[in-house]
Amino acid sequence: MMLQKLPIMCAVFSDFSINWTRSTTKMAKRYNLQRIKTLSTYSAQEIADLIGVHVRTVHVWYTKGLPKIDERRPFLVRGCELKEFLQKMAADRKKPCRPDEMYCVSCRAPRKPANRVVETQAINKKKVLIIGKCDICGTKMNRFASARNISQIVKLFEKHKEHKVNLSVSKNSIVNTDKQGDLFQ
Ligand SMILES: [Zn+2]
Repeated sequence: MMLQKLPIMCAVFSDFSINWTRSTTKMAKRYNLQRIKTLSTYSAQEIADLIGVHVRTVHVWYTKGLPKIDERRPFLVRGCELKEFLQKMAADRKKPCRPDEMYCVSCRAPRKPANRVVETQAINKKKVLIIGKCDICGTKMNRFASARNISQIVKLFEKHKEHKVNLSVSKNSIVNTDKQGDLFQ
């Protein structure tokens, strides 16, 4: 029974490992503010296209204080104010996630998981990967936690599903997990 199940678990696990690598690559990328013309005005879609985010992310930025010229639709944003807003957000981003949040690479901000549902996956005896979906944009979010705190951490969420994986398999399937700095302490 155990042997039959194993290949499926490995497949799931390698998917997590790919996602993790992609996430860290994206995280390192910054907005190219050079492309924003300070004297131009932009719609949400134009902003999304210009800096490579989802249009819903721009709508989130409105709620977080991205100034619109007026309340007429489609909303327009001055380039100079967009630049200023993104610079301020980059400074704010240095704030760490709260215990019940994870970093969303699409929103580029700490987010709570949708419906407060998370999945966990043991990486090794010390580390657990927590997976959730961003409550704003639906992007898959990952966060690492120490195994000794995991029972406390999952209590912060409404629902929790645990993926059980043979540890000797997972050790070989994932690399560079030590480089992940986002550990729950
Ligand atoms: Zn998001």
